[in-house]
Amino acid sequence: FPVENIRNFSIIAHVDHGKSTLADRLLELTGTIDKTKNNKQVLDKLQVERERGITVKAQTASLFYNCEGKQYLLNLIDTPGHVDFSYEVSRSLSACQGVLLVVDANEGIQAQTVANFFLAFEAQLSVIPVINKIDLKNADPERVVKQIEKVFDIPSDECIKISAKLGTNVESVLQAVIERIPPYAGQVGYLIAGMKDVTEAQIGDTLYLHKQPVEPLPGFKSAKPMVFAGMYPVDQSEYNNLKSAIDKLTLNDSSVTVHRDSSLALGAGWRLGFLGLLHMEVFNQRLEQEYNASVILTTPTVPYKAVLSSAKLIKEYREKEITIINPAQFPDKSKVTEYLEPVVLGTIITPVEFTGKIMMLCQARRAVQKNMVFIDQNRVMLKYLLPLNEIVVDFYDSLKSLSSGYASFDYEDAGYQTAELVKMDILLNGNIVEELVTIVHKDKAQTVGKAICERLKDSLPRQLFEIAIQAAIGSKIIARETVKAYRKNVLAKCYGGDITRKMKLLKRQAEGKKKLRKIGNIEVPKDAFIKVLKTQ
Ligand code: GDP
Ligand code: MG
Repeated sequence: FPVENIRNFSIIAHVDHGKSTLADRLLELTGTIDKTKNNKQVLDKLQVERERGITVKAQTASLFYNCEGKQYLLNLIDTPGHVDFSYEVSRSLSACQGVLLVVDANEGIQAQTVANFFLAFEAQLSVIPVINKIDLKNADPERVVKQIEKVFDIPSDECIKISAKLGTNVESVLQAVIERIPPYAGQVGYLIAGMKDVTEAQIGDTLYLHKQPVEPLPGFKSAKPMVFAGMYPVDQSEYNNLKSAIDKLTLNDSSVTVHRDSSLALGAGWRLGFLGLLHMEVFNQRLEQEYNASVILTTPTVPYKAVLSSAKLIKEYREKEITIINPAQFPDKSKVTEYLEPVVLGTIITPVEFTGKIMMLCQARRAVQKNMVFIDQNRVMLKYLLPLNEIVVDFYDSLKSLSSGYASFDYEDAGYQTAELVKMDILLNGNIVEELVTIVHKDKAQTVGKAICERLKDSLPRQLFEIAIQAAIGSKIIARETVKAYRKNVLAKCYGGDITRKMKLLKRQAEGKKKLRKIGNIEVPKDAFIKVLKTQ
């Protein structure tokens, strides 16, 4: 194919703005797939993608398009919109010369529209704004045109207004791809190599002919996991099956990191690192759906850092700054000059009426406001520096619920900041429960401690004596709950002297105890740990 007839482009957008639907129409228009079929998001192949209606892996397709007697080869990459998968977006973009930036004509510019635009802008790509869903009753394409002009500085006459669903005006998108995106060189292909392990082939590697080395291309920064959680088989006998499932899935998704780990209560398992919470959920769902695994996933934590205080310690750890992905390995304050926590630069776009509530939410999450601009008369874009651990669990849900679903959120890595972190222990009648050790910010210790004690109280069965559940920082108790004593008499139901029945009941009770873990003289069922440790 002559280079001047090749176009490589991506479709980028906020989630649900219609990338995959537009891809369907482009595939149909060029005869790549059959138009008579009822095609819906054909590039979303994974079950999890179809169920959640999101794209997780970038997908490619090659289209042939005839225009004014010339045949063009269009290489299209459909990309995921969610922030957790932005590494897929940036990789896709470096294989392109242009992008279709799809914006919903009703919702307008959203947080991920902004994030994705800047990825394309920094890669110096041609950006074609496509305003989609003009068929919707509340569509206001003119308002969106003005937003695009204001936020991205793209002249209004460059916007193409379409309905991907109905196919309206989609042909002019193809025209624009040919006219506005430069041809530059390259083809999509594949290579069979004699590698034993997929990890030997890093995405972004440069290949060259034997004995003819070339200057390698800069490649990609490897994706950095930002959220860590423990993963255990529900039943220890499933350990090997789960291990092989995790191995297979990480072959396909090398951004997940895996370390062996074990817990007294949950047995042998792993500490896994993910790019974000959605990434974690998707990985979990794929394990369940594609490998039939059932797992326990513990509450996620972020990678904290500690700067060691003496040369002796630095020698011992072989590092000046250690990264803590497991609360159990949190070094004591006496060993440390400072603790650091990861922070992100968050973008929130919201209708003006929710601004006050959102500012309060951000303040409660220790956020620092960096910027605030009106993107039109009734929409605001807010920028905040946020500690990552304040957003990993429920920030997005809170934001959505207090804005009736209208606010959108995206974030990018912003390094580390000093943080007053403490290690919080949970005690049962004075004994530390190792699996519940938590790292928290000093100002949040009491709230978090209280919540864990309450959850534990609700899931611990009563026993023959009273149980004090306490949260403590060092020797200081910061929260307490009590489980009252209760006598469970298994024999109470047996009237008369049926001795074999009594023996059976006693035996069954003894077997039940095997699934318990003893902390001091307190019996804690595995279930109670699961309830406390699991993602809420
Ligand atoms: P993606 O997340 O950007 O890939 O978005 P999808 O292509 O999965 O579309 C999200 C939703 O919007 C789906 O329910 C589509 O049917 C719907 N949708 C996409 N394009 C249009 C359109 O032009 N008009 C209308 N009314 N709905 C659309
Ligand atoms: Mg999609």
